[in-house]
Amino acid sequence: MVKVKYILGICMIVLLTATGWGLSVWHQDAVQAKGTDIIASIPVKADVAYVSDDFTLPDKDNDKPVYDKYTIAQRKEKGLPLTYGKTRDYYYGDHVAYLTFDDGPNDHNTMEILDILKKENIHATFFLTGQNVKQYPEVVKKIYASGNAIGVHSYSHDYKKIYVSPKAYTDELLQTEQLIYDVIHVRPIISRAPGGTKGHFTKPFWQAIDDIGYIEVGWNALTGDADGTGKTPEKSVENVRTQIAERPYLNKHLVVLMHDAYGHHATVEALPNLIKMLKDQGYTFRVVTTAIPPSW
Ligand SMILES: [Zn+2]
Repeated sequence: MVKVKYILGICMIVLLTATGWGLSVWHQDAVQAKGTDIIASIPVKADVAYVSDDFTLPDKDNDKPVYDKYTIAQRKEKGLPLTYGKTRDYYYGDHVAYLTFDDGPNDHNTMEILDILKKENIHATFFLTGQNVKQYPEVVKKIYASGNAIGVHSYSHDYKKIYVSPKAYTDELLQTEQLIYDVIHVRPIISRAPGGTKGHFTKPFWQAIDDIGYIEVGWNALTGDADGTGKTPEKSVENVRTQIAERPYLNKHLVVLMHDAYGHHATVEALPNLIKMLKDQGYTFRVVTTAIPPSW
């Protein structure tokens, strides 16, 4: 009996020591998890497609977010192609809507939008600025893991810096690419020029982004959440409805520009009604991939 008590005592000591050690490790993890390094080191799984080494994309994968396994720097190192070098296969559907959000991510509007998309069982595309990727890596991870698509939207969003030269533009693109790669371990392939390419891109800019394997993605409809015409949720939805009615060709292929930066909560509030309006008109929703046709 004494022997049994003795063994039980030893077991308790071992158990308590192990629990204490476990708790202290857990505590350390929780503290360190606030740092970007730890966030980046936790692998994340997502249902995504990858372009092959020569940039081809299997047809069956053209409705998933598309990424490259390599950064452009890694492609250079390995001697792999850096650009498409041929015409892409476009996906043309009917009543296809691409919802796009620029200027994020952040821990407020972006998170709310992700919740709405999940509830509606649809996916959208987020064009991120490097400075916000740096600040909210955990939100980047959430966008990726939830099956929504990620594109690049410069680092600084400062027109005076990025449009000085094609090199200034691609430098910020690659800087942001690296920041995103550090978090999700894949490279986005799509990008969107802040303020759009019109009046910003000259021919050498198009060449420069093509040379580093990026697809520039425009839009053909907008809620007006950033230009003052769609300040309220009601007006945002109404604007898109009017644009579709006035330009029936948008029925084929609708790319809606919105913003999820701070100060755009009206966009979050508009989203459920915007989605409902589009669903009622027979739209289905896709993420932007390399197969997206030109917006116009
Ligand atoms: Zn923007």
